[in-house]
Amino acid sequence: MKKRLRLSRRTRPFQESVIREMTRIGAEVGGVNLAQGLPDFDPPRELLAALPGILSEPRHHQYSFTWGSPEFRRSVAEKCERFNGLTVDPDTEVTITCGVSEALVDSVLGLTEPGDEVVMLEPWYENYVPACALAGVKPRFVPLRESDYALDLSRLTKAVNRKTRLMILNTPGNPSGRVLSRSELTEIARLCQRFGVIAVVDEIYEHIWYEGHRHVSLASLPGMADRTVTVSGLGKTYAVTGWRIGWAVAAAPLTDRIRKVHDYVTLCAPSPFQAAGRVALALPDAYYEDLRREYARRRTILLAALARCGLSFMPPEGSYYVMVDAKPLGWKDDWDFVNFLARKVGVLAVPGSSFYSRRGGGETRARLNFAKRQETLLEAARRLDEKSLRYKA
Ligand code: PMP
Repeated sequence: MKKRLRLSRRTRPFQESVIREMTRIGAEVGGVNLAQGLPDFDPPRELLAALPGILSEPRHHQYSFTWGSPEFRRSVAEKCERFNGLTVDPDTEVTITCGVSEALVDSVLGLTEPGDEVVMLEPWYENYVPACALAGVKPRFVPLRESDYALDLSRLTKAVNRKTRLMILNTPGNPSGRVLSRSELTEIARLCQRFGVIAVVDEIYEHIWYEGHRHVSLASLPGMADRTVTVSGLGKTYAVTGWRIGWAVAAAPLTDRIRKVHDYVTLCAPSPFQAAGRVALALPDAYYEDLRREYARRRTILLAALARCGLSFMPPEGSYYVMVDAKPLGWKDDWDFVNFLARKVGVLAVPGSSFYSRRGGGETRARLNFAKRQETLLEAARRLDEKSLRYKA
């Protein structure tokens, strides 16, 4: 007789990513995909031009140094000085990872103990909760205000206690579009210092913010360099999400723990794309100004269409997502709303509830992204304009 297999309890509650489910529906109905947050335009010419030369060098086809090639780590350290106000030692404080996704999991696994608590703001990016489950730590959610995603610092303070080991933050935020201000970050820094909490800050959208806002790195605030892990990567800034290059920047004792996980999980990040990443990080300031100008243009097209439909939303301060609320149009269920959008309008969005832990969170909302060519967004706008989005029972 064959003995029944036992599988891990840890991974049992994981759900398949809702975004993939939306992409499947999209393939069925042929909608404009504003669900998955990936660009449909080309990376910068300079990067494409550099690749053939990089690929013709035999050394780029083998493992890099485990923590990342020394040259690329130096580029990341220089970039941290140039854009983030951080002084970073490339030898002891930078780890190159397979995307921001890996850097986040390495940080949670490397810096917590089972039973610890990890504080995060809600709505959250979908990888944070499974990362906590893998590490056996308990997420504690601090809801942002529903109308404008304002952070209530007294709620955050109440969520932190002596069991809190980490705080995961994301600024500019997905899906909220919030850019945490210097004064909010100063309060957060005070809390981290008072309770001995490490902040893991996902800054993947660090270069994408709009008028009146500006990205600030928490690690650059006084007293935070020794207790912040700054995570970012190439995917969003250079439209190369498939390259899988990210990094975790943290003081040496924290980096040491992050590297231990990284070493045994992936050994190293892809060598050719670390080499190409040096070209990306050397692009001039004009590249980042253009990037913001283009995103501002895309944002205007989509937000105007959404407003014409009667949806309510907070205009994003940064990142390339907007969460809309369909409640003013009579909708009560986010899945009904996104199914209607997909099947009757031909636009794919992500149901709002997939960014919340609590029952009823995001239940009349949906997330759309505008990391798309102008013609893709104009086509989405045309489809939205054609149809009434009002709920009909
Ligand atoms: N963090 C956030 C907030 C994201 O939106 C995403 C991608 N959608 C990631 C991390 C994943 O980044 P990467 O592709 O570099 O793993």
